[in-house]
Amino acid sequence: MRAVFASRLGGDSPLDNLTIGDRPEPEPGPGEVRVRVHAATLNRHDYFTLQGIVGYPFEPPRILGCDAAGVVDRYGPDRPPGSPDPGAPVAVYPVTFCGKCPRCGAGDPMLCDRFTLLSDGDREGSFGDYLVVPAQCVLPKPETLSFAETAALGTTYLTAYRMLFVKAALMPGQSVLVQGAGGGLATAAIALAREAGLTVFVSSRSAERLEAAQRIGAQHGVLAGRDAAKTILKLSGGGVDAVIESVGEPTWATSLRVLRQGGVIVVSGATAGANPPADLARVFWRQLQIKGSTMGTLQEFRDLLRFVTPRGIKPLIDHIYPAEKAREAFVRLAAGDVFGKLVLSFE
Ligand SMILES: [Zn+2]
Repeated sequence: MRAVFASRLGGDSPLDNLTIGDRPEPEPGPGEVRVRVHAATLNRHDYFTLQGIVGYPFEPPRILGCDAAGVVDRYGPDRPPGSPDPGAPVAVYPVTFCGKCPRCGAGDPMLCDRFTLLSDGDREGSFGDYLVVPAQCVLPKPETLSFAETAALGTTYLTAYRMLFVKAALMPGQSVLVQGAGGGLATAAIALAREAGLTVFVSSRSAERLEAAQRIGAQHGVLAGRDAAKTILKLSGGGVDAVIESVGEPTWATSLRVLRQGGVIVVSGATAGANPPADLARVFWRQLQIKGSTMGTLQEFRDLLRFVTPRGIKPLIDHIYPAEKAREAFVRLAAGDVFGKLVLSFE
């Protein structure tokens, strides 16, 4: 089948590890389903894999891709009752976990030692004509969304949903600062937060991106820099309830300064550096909370689908590339020059 995969990992030129070619078709085992992939989106995780930055060691070749939407092709033995029929359009929940350890049993499989994303560990990724996942991981595709938009729900929207509504536990009327504008996570967080009745601040180095962020729902766009924290403190009347942080070193000082007392920073990435000064005096004196977050549970994915469908929320797509043009998409991902999601089409 057609696939976009890493033929090697690491080295000086990660994009040279990217191959567009043929890989064996996967077969669904017991309790598994095979999906005919229609669309999958690019995530920083895919570029990290090419760079050799992987959570679980594995041997290439490895099909890349952390999310997908498509059509149920067929099930292996032991199809679960009530699962979508072959031919049904589906959203793929892109996380697997052991389901047996105490953490899985306690209701948060994201804390499972064996939690893996598609393309990690033993799992092939979604950038191929077919994808095999555990059968409980396919849910009916929202009718209001295209395959490309549905694919974007699996990583960035799920991550943003958990950050806003589970980790920060934000309620209507509260306020949030989204650091950075333009990336998939920031655009997802802005759209979800606005629909949930939150006051949304966004900070970016680019005036053009701030304007675009305001078009998708941010009420206040603030240029990043020395005065950003002061401006946000003033506009928010003394500090925001939460910060959605995925940038890291360039934004961290502002993230700490704009919080109200007892406020929370939720971190799901550090794309521009992972070791900013901690400013611990501020953390304890103002009783700030710092929480890490990754992806979300299957129940949170169901909740997300239920949240976006009636509200008509549509993930922002920057561009859809045919699978054969994956390299062009990866060049843009590496450059960070995107507004919304880059999508690969396998139709
Ligand atoms: Zn587990």
